[in-house]
Amino acid sequence: MKQNVLAFFKQFPDDDTCLEHLFEVSYGQGHECPKCERDAKWYRIKSEKAFSCQWCGHHIHPMVGTPFQQSRTSLQLWFFAIFLFIKSRNGVSAKELERQLGVTYKTAWRMGHEIRKHMAGVDGETPLGGIGKIVEADETYIGGYEKGAMGGKGKAIVVGLVEKDGDVMTFVVPNRSQASLVGPILNNVHAGTTIHTDTAGQYTALKHFEEYTHLTVDHSISEYVGKDGQTTNTIEGFFFHLKRTIKGTHIWVSPKHLPKYAKEAEFMYNRRKAPNTMLPDLLSTFPLQTWT
Ligand SMILES: [Zn+2]
Repeated sequence: MKQNVLAFFKQFPDDDTCLEHLFEVSYGQGHECPKCERDAKWYRIKSEKAFSCQWCGHHIHPMVGTPFQQSRTSLQLWFFAIFLFIKSRNGVSAKELERQLGVTYKTAWRMGHEIRKHMAGVDGETPLGGIGKIVEADETYIGGYEKGAMGGKGKAIVVGLVEKDGDVMTFVVPNRSQASLVGPILNNVHAGTTIHTDTAGQYTALKHFEEYTHLTVDHSISEYVGKDGQTTNTIEGFFFHLKRTIKGTHIWVSPKHLPKYAKEAEFMYNRRKAPNTMLPDLLSTFPLQTWT
């Protein structure tokens, strides 16, 4: 399916079409009524955003459990905002959404964050690695304006893990302690994985975990690929793109909101080989939101 603006508006010409889409992907005709427990035909109720059971009149509200649930913004604008997100290489600023959608800046800002959280939910947190697999781990400072001790005031630390030819995972951590840098690896990387890091002392803790093989690359001597082929180039490339997106598109991001931008970048990276799945999946899977 083509995914240009014209195709988008052909598929979703109005709010009703969007609501019907939500009904179809989550319920569909023939869906068993939760109240009378019969396989039912569902009729659209014109007076509210709901469908009604042919037998008992029970209502299903397809927007419940989606990011659009509490919003007064039209469903079509929400869908289009998501379209803009997946079409952009470097993220969408609130200002840009405001302009494209004709909503207030405040609404645009809130929509952007809801979409990032939704991307995080659809992306999921599937562990990386496994026997014979390689995961690169590294950390970086992102955000803040002032240079200073510990990498600068207002900056946050992001730990990134990326499987070779696979997915990336990001974690915003409070400091560069051993627990902060190694914890995400222990919690999210399968046993049997070979882990590549730089020579930062925190990662030496990995030698206590027999389930991993740990190889390091020494950046202090300008080594970028070690003698066993170990490298952290992929995760550094991901960080580079994330930083460029934040600087170029959003100018500045608070540490509080940084996880959402990191998750957006994560979603986009993990779908890089199947970009056409982004829009359909974001408009048809609605995992429970577990963070704000
Ligand atoms: Zn019923």
